[in-house]
Amino acid sequence: MFFKRQVRDFINIDPLQTGGKLTEDARKVLLEWGDGYSICDYCTGKLESISKPPVNRFVDELRDFFDCDGVRLTTGAREGKFAVMHALHRENPEKSLVVVDGNAHYSTLLAAERAGLEVLKVENSGYPEYRIDEEKYREILEEAGEKTLLAVLTYPDGNYGNLPDAKKVSKICRELGVPILLNCAYSAGRMPLSMKELKADFVVASGHKSMASSGPVGVLAFSDEFSKVLTRESRYKKGKEVEFLGCTARGVPLLTLMASFDHVRERVKYWDREVEKARWFIEEMEKLGIVQLGEKPHNHDLIFFESEKLYQISKRVKRGRYFLYKELKKRRIHGIKPGLTKHFKLSTYLVPEEDLVRVLEAFEEIISNFS
Ligand SMILES: *Cc1c(COP(=O)(O)O)cnc(C)c1O
Repeated sequence: MFFKRQVRDFINIDPLQTGGKLTEDARKVLLEWGDGYSICDYCTGKLESISKPPVNRFVDELRDFFDCDGVRLTTGAREGKFAVMHALHRENPEKSLVVVDGNAHYSTLLAAERAGLEVLKVENSGYPEYRIDEEKYREILEEAGEKTLLAVLTYPDGNYGNLPDAKKVSKICRELGVPILLNCAYSAGRMPLSMKELKADFVVASGHKSMASSGPVGVLAFSDEFSKVLTRESRYKKGKEVEFLGCTARGVPLLTLMASFDHVRERVKYWDREVEKARWFIEEMEKLGIVQLGEKPHNHDLIFFESEKLYQISKRVKRGRYFLYKELKKRRIHGIKPGLTKHFKLSTYLVPEEDLVRVLEAFEEIISNFS
């Protein structure tokens, strides 16, 4: 049985998908290594030590890429967060609180929940920018006191694409003696990023979100200070790390991450251009009366829009709130969630400018046809 992907050659502006598009090399590798457990051909017990294919060398390169002391491969950003929370909590059972930003991804909350921890939020500034005030971390952390196990900052968040000053938050956490994890699902693999520069203790990344990989695969970067706690070995099975259940991304997802890595390392150098393009796109959308929410000026390709016009149209047309999705599909544009009109997000990442012009024309046409 073969299932064709309907949107394969559409213009894709789905924020979940623009950074995870495979390179040609990754597409080839997908076929070559698709069999189950193919990665284990020459494994001697540890994923990160496999030399054929060269996972060991890849892990060294990841360490440079993230500018950190240690790296583990995971099945995604969320598994990285859970591993950190679980490992830290085991060491400090008396600490049971995770302080997160108000724009945190749901998987941060679930990771904490699964690790038996409570969550306290540093609220955002609300409509229209939903900013995270870095100084508020100090306030909340001081208030929470000794029971705080970990602070998490979403960098940037997956709703508005707001990019807070991570270094500022890290410094506050350092002063107060709280380890800090940066959730870089939407940044690592898109923009240059140094864990040391940002003064973080942990960084999690997502291969399928931002590193041109099929996934599920992710990276957990950490500093030496936490290496022992994170990589604790099993009492029962020699050489196997407990927090990673002995092995994580064991198969073709990892191979696609490896195959795309040269491309990813190169593309982060052109991040400024992507931001510029996103700002231009925002400007053009606003000319149509579709307003960007979140930080202004915007610093990321993930963009959240508000449109009263499209919402009003949806209330009187036959297909109701699905009209926008259907109209875009007709024009071979994929990525805005079915049913959304008033608020929706999209991403311009690596979408060619001429395709974005077509998207803008589509919005203009839809608005004028239905007005
Ligand atoms: C997509 C996303 C995640 C989830 O990443 P996985 O690798 O699928 O676990 C986590 N955080 C943010 C901010 C995201 O946008």
